[in-house]
Amino acid sequence: MTMTHPRAGDARSYLFNDHTVEGYRRAVAAGSARVAGRVGRTDRPFSGAAPARLAPEIAAIDLERPLHDHAAALDELERVYLRDAVYFHHPRYLAHLNCPVVIPALLGEVVLSAVNSSLDTWDQSAGGTLIERRMVEWTAGRIGFGPAADGVFTSGGTQSNLQALFLAREEARAAGTPLSRLRVITSEAGHFSVRKAAALLGLGPEAVVAVETDAERRMRLDGLARELDRCRRAGLTVMAVAATAGTTDFGSIDPLPEIARLCAAAGVWLHVDAAYGCGLLVSRRRRHLLDGIERADSVTVDFHKSFFQPVSSSALLVRDGAALRHAAHHADYLNPLRMAERGIPNQVDKSLQTTRRFDALKLWLTLRVMGADAVGELFDQVVDLAAEAHAMLAADPRFEVVTRSPLSTLVFRYLPPEGPGRELADDANLYAREALAASGEAVVAGTTVDGRHHLKLTLLNPETTRDDVAYVLDLLAGHAQRHVDDLAPLAGQPEVTHVHS
Ligand SMILES: *Cc1c(COP(=O)(O)O)cnc(C)c1O
Repeated sequence: MTMTHPRAGDARSYLFNDHTVEGYRRAVAAGSARVAGRVGRTDRPFSGAAPARLAPEIAAIDLERPLHDHAAALDELERVYLRDAVYFHHPRYLAHLNCPVVIPALLGEVVLSAVNSSLDTWDQSAGGTLIERRMVEWTAGRIGFGPAADGVFTSGGTQSNLQALFLAREEARAAGTPLSRLRVITSEAGHFSVRKAAALLGLGPEAVVAVETDAERRMRLDGLARELDRCRRAGLTVMAVAATAGTTDFGSIDPLPEIARLCAAAGVWLHVDAAYGCGLLVSRRRRHLLDGIERADSVTVDFHKSFFQPVSSSALLVRDGAALRHAAHHADYLNPLRMAERGIPNQVDKSLQTTRRFDALKLWLTLRVMGADAVGELFDQVVDLAAEAHAMLAADPRFEVVTRSPLSTLVFRYLPPEGPGRELADDANLYAREALAASGEAVVAGTTVDGRHHLKLTLLNPETTRDDVAYVLDLLAGHAQRHVDDLAPLAGQPEVTHVHS
């Protein structure tokens, strides 16, 4: 035996290589067995654990004392994570835009993390680069873009929107416009990442103009026309209109064909944020709801929202691939111009990231195993359920529902019966959501509409039934009314209601 550092042999046993494939198989099988066991017996989406309970357990773990054993580490993980995680596969998880995931995509996750390709250059991914390009082409085809289209996978809608606005900004700057004169128009219901992107791109807080929405929470066309006109007269350059196909709160879809027409007339870049609505690209019954998207200059899609893909999986698509040149910078060590001259594909030339996950593989395996129609059918099912749930809410005197979404969200609030309790409605809705989450029976979201607290369901699980929705509505009404009953006797006493308002 050659002399080595006493622990060196041990440490190497953890490396994944040709000597350790058995250990790898056992470790991954043990990990998937734990998750499967947990998922197999979860009877609620959440344990209701509060940060105050979990924080000390996690803080108490001594990171200087490794366990040297996969099973022991998994036992510990059960206690500090798996037991109290929030489970999106559970049919009563109804809160945010998190979907249950499909098994072919999980298979992709196993493969992509172990092979660990990095999608920046050919020499770190080879076929992975070509598979990502096929997935980009396929998505662009579904959007209805022509052969000049291109795009790249990103970490999420936030990054896709940032890159879209970055490209739009560079296009506007090519005309010599100073940053201070650039504007982005979106709607009141647009995603906050548009504002964040504008800030990151060096635009001032006044740069994002939010046009009002109509009763269905879609961008108003007269408002858009007015703002385009106002900017033009003020000598400001609208570098992009960011329309939304599936707003986060209301699932509303801005009128894309008309917006595209206004943008074309004004010579303005149209970005469509379809982070949520992209599931319609594979719907056989509702694809028409995205009509007009093919006229966008750029489109954000989040496969991890409506394609049943695990986080992360998103892409930015552009109608004219030449726009991506703004993201290209050369480094001698990575993507020298010589590579480009030799026609060797480098995705790093199109991306804001350098080292980058092979997320496209999950979508690839999903399409190869299930096919696009099956994904679209799952999305259609949740949209169908949302329509039924809307009808239920509209017929239920306990609740007031805000809009009917063409996608799968429901925004509503509990309305206490006429009487002294009415004025407690706002608090009661807030309380109901928190009490429900603490019980772990179901998880719903909340938002504010016209200054009032509302409850929100985002339906993305085809396994959720009408009965699940009805059950959750009963729980919410119960929690809300209990709050009203507790406080209503005091409602006449200003000093008490003041504390809770
Ligand atoms: C979720 C969402 C985003 C942000 O996407 P992430 O993947 O969470 O970064 C952007 N736009 C809309 C409309 C969204 O719903």
